[in-house]
This record gives sequence, C-alpha cells and structure tokens, in this order.
Amino acid sequence: MKLTRREFNRLLALGAGAHFIPNLHAQTEPRKTGYCIVGLGRISMQHFMPAIKNSAKARVTALVSGHRDKAERMATEYRVPTSSIYSYDNYDAIAANPNIDAVYVALPNSMHAEYSIRAAKAGKHVLCEKPMSTTVADARAMIAACQHAQKKLMIGYRCHLEPVNLRAVQLIRDGKLGKVQAIESTFGFNIGPNEWRTNRKLAGGGPLMDVGIYSLNACRYLTGEEPVEIDAHSSVIDHDGRFTEVEENISWTMTFPSGVVASCNSTYGATMPGFYRVHGSRGMLNLDNAFIYEGLVLRADIDGAEPIVMRSPSPDPAHFAAEAEHFADCIQQNQQNKAPGEEGLRDMELMMRIYDSCKRPAA
Ligand code: NAD
Repeated sequence: MKLTRREFNRLLALGAGAHFIPNLHAQTEPRKTGYCIVGLGRISMQHFMPAIKNSAKARVTALVSGHRDKAERMATEYRVPTSSIYSYDNYDAIAANPNIDAVYVALPNSMHAEYSIRAAKAGKHVLCEKPMSTTVADARAMIAACQHAQKKLMIGYRCHLEPVNLRAVQLIRDGKLGKVQAIESTFGFNIGPNEWRTNRKLAGGGPLMDVGIYSLNACRYLTGEEPVEIDAHSSVIDHDGRFTEVEENISWTMTFPSGVVASCNSTYGATMPGFYRVHGSRGMLNLDNAFIYEGLVLRADIDGAEPIVMRSPSPDPAHFAAEAEHFADCIQQNQQNKAPGEEGLRDMELMMRIYDSCKRPAA
C-alpha cells in the first residue's frame, strides 16, 4: 500500500503508522544485549541459555563450540543464524559480528583467561564463569585486557544477585544477629571418574576451585571483610584413580580483622550440601541450599523475636536471568557490575593461599 505523506502523518497521529514501517516497533523497544555463548556444556545449555530465552533484556546471538552439530541444534532452538556459529579456531571473528555485545565464557577453568582476553580484544564485554582463572597472573591479565579494551568484565558469582543470600547479608549488616562470632560453610559433591574437574591442567585445583569457592566468597560477603589469616588442610581418602592430580577433600579456617573465624569444608568425595551458618551474639542464621539454583531456605533465630524464614522459588527461573540481565543493564547504562574482575581476583589470591597453607609442614 502506498500512502501520501499527509495520509501517513494522519495514521501516525492515530497510532497506526507503525504498521507501515516494519521496524518502527523494533527501533523504539530497548535493544536486547546479545550474548555469544562460549562453550556448550552443562551450565550454558541447561541453565544460562534457557534462563534468557524469554528475557526482555538479553538474548543469545552467537555460539562457540567444537561440536558443529550440537551448535546447529542449539542455534535452531535459539534462532541464532548459522553464520553466527563459531569454532574455537575462528573465535576471533566475533569482532565483526555487531549482534554480539558480550561473551559468556562457560569453558573449563583454565580456558577462561584465553577466551576472555580474546573477547576483549575483539571488542566484546565479558561475563566469565567462576573460578575466574586458574592462576592469579591470568586473573590479572583478564582485568588488564578488559581495561585496555574499555570493556566490562563480570565473574559469574550468581549469589551476589540472589535475593535469599542478599537478605542474609542485610540481616547481618542491620545488626540483627548482634556481633558475628563465627561462620561455618560447606559445599561438595561426589564426583564421577574422568571429569575435566579432576584434571589439574584444566581445573587448576580440586573442589576448592569448583565449589569451595562459594563458601570462601560467602564468608567474604557475609562479613564484608577480607581474611587476614588462613589455615588449611587437604586429603585424599579414595585412591581409586580420581584424585591423582587434585585434592579430594579440603578444609580451611579464615580469621577476619573483626575476629570472626570461618570454618569451611569442601569435597569431591561425598554429597555435601552447600550451606552456611552464621553465629552472632544475638542470634543465628542458617541458609540451606545456599549456593544452588533453587530451594534456598533461610532461617534466622534472633533472641526475643519470631524466626525469620525466607525461601527461594523451586524451580527458580530468575536465577541466571538475574545475572545476565544485571550485566546487560551495566553494559547499556555504562555502570560497574556487582561482581567485577577484582572480586574474582581476590578469590584467586585467597585460594592460592589456601593451597599454600595445605603444603605447609605441620608445626
Ligand atoms: P561442562 O564440562 O559441562 O562444559 C564445558 C564445555 O567446555 C563443554 O561444552 C566442552 O565441550 C567445552 N570444552 C572445550 N574444550 C574443552 C576441553 N579441553 N575439555 C573439556 N571441555 C572442553 O562444564 P560446566 O559444568 O558447564 O562448567 C563450565 C564452567 O562453568 C566451569 O568453569 C565451572 O566452574 C562453571 N560453572 C559455574 C556454575 C555456576 O553456578 N555459576 C555451575 C557449574 C559450572
């Protein structure tokens, strides 16, 4: 249909003009941040990508995989053009793809640094899974590369945006527990054979790097302090071939400047649900399932008050969406994100101190 300018202006005034300009709606809606998913494994395919499928702020616009058939299946599901499927070899070509704003790096730990740095060099923002890297030097190089490229870097610390964890932090900051005296935290699971997670070169370490990091990070956000003293021990109990390169069990204590002592355990040898318990002079706070994707249960027993209970939904569709959308907001509004590279670097430094302490001969 052809319209004169006068007819068009009249229709526009009536709100109908958009039908004659196919892209008018698209232009007026906020642009969704396009994520390039690097590594099509469990966390990206089962959690991150489904979480942003219906997001108003983020979408999957490209895929990087060593398995073309798998990538094509995911491309069909997420309406990604096949021209936006990359391999690890031609990954740098993402630079020329204007639909990619950020990469989501979900590869084995030792590959995080390389693929984050290459993304920054390609002019893309970086959301990288935890642990940030396998060495402190790599973590620093990632921060430097993103700074140099003037691109944002966020580490996948979901709990920094998760409402039940945030409530726990708020109760402590508000002084509801009185003076915090001690924290206990655990997280571990019984790992199967032949996982990259037990290969030191790919994982950088054992359960500490993979899941113990949640307890370490939680003790830091719960206290709002950085540990000054660390004492750690590791062991292998099951000599069945799984733990020739990394620890099976690791336990450590951290003393914070206020005097709070945190005791943490992590394992690849047993089911050890992620949780923390904070003991204060006026009460106790317990968070079950603290670090998983659903079914978090907080209970705070404060002297002279009714117990405070808070649960997360099960299933919780917002968990990974919150992370992707927060980073999208930070990119769109040019703001600092809640889990920048420096946060990941701090955990890397502390994990190295924990490992160093394990090697220290008993006094
Ligand atoms: P996974 O083994 O399921 O996926 C890893 C992906 O990397 C696969 O697509 C695999 O094909 C690819 N890959 C490329 N080169 C590889 C190599 N040399 N060896 C092995 N795989 C290779 O792992 P995952 O559980 O998805 O973990 C990926 C990252 O995400 C890890 O850093 C892990 O710590 C992190 N993670 C984060 C959370 C979270 O809740 N934030 C949960 C699980 C995992």
